[in-house]
Amino acid sequence: MDNIRSLRDVQDEIIRLKKEKDICILAHVYQSHDILEIADYTGDSYGLSVQAAKSEASTVIMCGVRFMAETVKILSPDKKVILSSPDAGCPMAEQIDTSLLAGLKKRYPDHTVVCYINTTSELKTLCDVCVTSASAVKIIKNIENDKILFIPDCNLGAWVKEQIPEKEFAFVQGGCPTHLRMTKNMVLKAKEAHPDAKLLIHPECLPEVSALADYVGSTTGIMNYAKEHDHKEYIIGTENSITEHLQYECPDKYFYPLSKDCVCHNMKLTSLVDVLNCCNGTGGEEIILEDDVREKALRCINTMLELG
Ligand code: SF4
Repeated sequence: MDNIRSLRDVQDEIIRLKKEKDICILAHVYQSHDILEIADYTGDSYGLSVQAAKSEASTVIMCGVRFMAETVKILSPDKKVILSSPDAGCPMAEQIDTSLLAGLKKRYPDHTVVCYINTTSELKTLCDVCVTSASAVKIIKNIENDKILFIPDCNLGAWVKEQIPEKEFAFVQGGCPTHLRMTKNMVLKAKEAHPDAKLLIHPECLPEVSALADYVGSTTGIMNYAKEHDHKEYIIGTENSITEHLQYECPDKYFYPLSKDCVCHNMKLTSLVDVLNCCNGTGGEEIILEDDVREKALRCINTMLELG
């Protein structure tokens, strides 16, 4: 077994290479714990792209999915941006293409088009403003128009609509296949098994699941809630890596995944060795965006900042 490298050896090599080659590593919190340990920044997708823009490193490796690496490139056009695993897409981000959206805009000509950050850069070029799950309510409240076309996640949209009943919303049938695996029945069983646990739910879940939660919020919001509250037990209704990361951060608390199946297979495509290969220049894919696409997508993101 002497020729098998340990996880620690690979991590050490990555840490050495990123210093030598002026690389900043971003890891979305749905990545595995061994990748989070070697990252310069961990967190939600938009927060990571902001951190990358502030970093002085000339190269950024995004351990996540394609739309996240594109967002990094939109905010940091002069940096070399590498997506850790070229096959890591996001099914939700790819549910609507530009021709479908063009048709929707004709159908709802007087609506402001709001897209979730989980969309392709191309799609963002046709949208008025984008939102994150944490900022959606605040930003949509600040839009002057009372008619909103919200894409692509109708479940996140329904949660936002509930909090802004004065506005009129149009949705399309879209959503995250990972979060849609969680059902009301699973919630009832989990509550029965852990009657003292607080239920923390991501708003990409079905409305009947969110309706039973003690807290609904972004991934960062869920992690902060569990870390900041004195409560001992939590049922976690988002991607299962969050349960694992929280166990490391709060060893005196108990975390139960709402569903064993809440695993994003695209997020799990990246391995520690993929990250090493990216550092070595033998893996990953460099993200290239046409200037026109980048500039129009940036406008959509900048409007989010103005309204937020
Ligand atoms: S968890 Fe859902 S929204 Fe996030 S990357 Fe996976 S499929 Fe896309």
